[in-house]
Amino acid sequence: MSAFTVLHPYLRQQLRAKHLFHAYIFSGSEAAEQAKALSAALECLKPREDGEACGSCHSCRNITLNVHPDVRWLEPQGAQHKVEAIRELVANAGLSRMAGAFKVYILNQAENITLEGANTLLKLLEEPVPNTVLILIAEQPDQLLPTIISRCQQFSFGAERAAAAPDAALTEAAFSFLSVLPQLPLYQVLQRARDYEKDRPGQSAFLFAMLECLHERAKGKNSLDWSRSAALAAADMLEESIDQLNRGMNQKLLMDVTYLHLRQICMQ
Ligand SMILES: [Zn+2]
Repeated sequence: MSAFTVLHPYLRQQLRAKHLFHAYIFSGSEAAEQAKALSAALECLKPREDGEACGSCHSCRNITLNVHPDVRWLEPQGAQHKVEAIRELVANAGLSRMAGAFKVYILNQAENITLEGANTLLKLLEEPVPNTVLILIAEQPDQLLPTIISRCQQFSFGAERAAAAPDAALTEAAFSFLSVLPQLPLYQVLQRARDYEKDRPGQSAFLFAMLECLHERAKGKNSLDWSRSAALAAADMLEESIDQLNRGMNQKLLMDVTYLHLRQICMQ
């Protein structure tokens, strides 16, 4: 097991697709853990096949000990992040990297930034430095300047579900699968359960896309031909499955059970 928490599937997808944002806002109970896991995945010298950090290389160890030269964790000085500290951060971002592939800056309690500090930070957001990732951890992200929020991708971790929208193609794939599911013969349902057989993050992302789809249906926001109660029941079941998948449960067994259960629910 890696020393870091399992990355959120959307983040892992972004890593795999090499489509990272320059700036993120992380909130929720797992925000700090996810920030650490993302920086480790970016800096790891021997990343695993699924994109996660190995947890044991020199770089990972340094991140665990909080001494990686290219990963800076900033806490407020006193009650606030002062402008001097932010100026130093922005200047540092312009310098070349020490050892890692990326420079990562993590601002904890980012809502406690002075207005001057926030305006200084905006410069970095407006003119991002390549291979530099800024992660703002905020318990109350809505207290950040709107100009900052609009330049960051927002994620909420932990009890609350991800705030970011899943990939459009994946959403569509999830929608069409759920639409045909009531008519699919059992053997085809089981075939579909193997779609991501050797791709745990891909599977996780697809389950998330289905989950979003079912939530939208429950809110009456899409045209999925399922009853509202079936959509809600299936969403509960999927949340449980995603959790078990992320905790490393046998994927093949879990997906067989999940897909069959999903079909059973939609037939009710
Ligand atoms: Zn590593």
